[in-house]
Amino acid sequence: MGYLFGPVLSRRLGLSMGVDLLQFKTCNLDCVYCELGRTACLTSCRDRFVPRDKVVREIERRRDEPFDYLTFAGSGEPTLSLDLGEVVSRAKQIVDSPVAVITNSTLLTSPAVRKEVAAADVVLPSLDAVSQEAFIAINRPARGLFAEEMIQGLKDFRREYSGEIWLEVMLVEDINDHEAERIARAAEAIDPDRIQLNTVVRTPAEPVEPLSQEEMHRMLEIFPGAELIPDWDWSVPIAIKERMLKLLSEKELTLQEIGLHLDLAGNDAIKYCKILEKDGSISRKLYQGNLYFHAN
Ligand code: SF4
Repeated sequence: MGYLFGPVLSRRLGLSMGVDLLQFKTCNLDCVYCELGRTACLTSCRDRFVPRDKVVREIERRRDEPFDYLTFAGSGEPTLSLDLGEVVSRAKQIVDSPVAVITNSTLLTSPAVRKEVAAADVVLPSLDAVSQEAFIAINRPARGLFAEEMIQGLKDFRREYSGEIWLEVMLVEDINDHEAERIARAAEAIDPDRIQLNTVVRTPAEPVEPLSQEEMHRMLEIFPGAELIPDWDWSVPIAIKERMLKLLSEKELTLQEIGLHLDLAGNDAIKYCKILEKDGSISRKLYQGNLYFHAN
């Protein structure tokens, strides 16, 4: 069984190699927008779910694959794993890329959890509600979790942690958008490095509606200084597609080589490969620790 997944293309982290310390699907929330579906095991009890040493060995084995971040995420809430701090610390000694933790913020009320999460280079916590009513409506928490305490945990974490905090706010129509101003004030008080606004883009656990593009842009007035998590345009410009397919039918190339040949900026090489892989035009293969792409 593998404990790493990807590398996947993440809208926030570029090419992300995921580490999953949980069993599907273990969380202390059951968010209406969760792309993993309903929470099978709703618990706030921290535990050990996978063999820690096997996870570390798998990180060692895959350390040379290309990725921008090693990201602790996966089948639920990573801070429920009692192994999180240990595995994050060991991973930082193994991989060159920065280590990220995605969390729903609820357990940052605990000093022990804050200490474990603080071993990461970047932490991506969520804040979707300020009132307990909205917290229950959007996140459907396990018993004993309170929005007010979670916000205090985020503030405490900010005080103690000098790494990057990228706070995500998920906005869902008629569920939490009415308290956007309160969330914005709370986010400002937490003082993260970035505030990233999101709405439902993948298949949610419940039939909830995203905010429109216009509404999301209006949210930027309520959250000054925030950014919208980009929704990709899932198309490849025709001229680039033709050149990529020609190039990859002549030779297998890495992402870096594709970027150099086609003079592509930033994550564009990753994005275009992902799209062409999806439509079946190209495939990937791993050879001696490097990821290569070729035309089909
Ligand atoms: S916290 Fe994350 S994993 Fe848990 S239910 Fe919400 S979206 Fe899903």
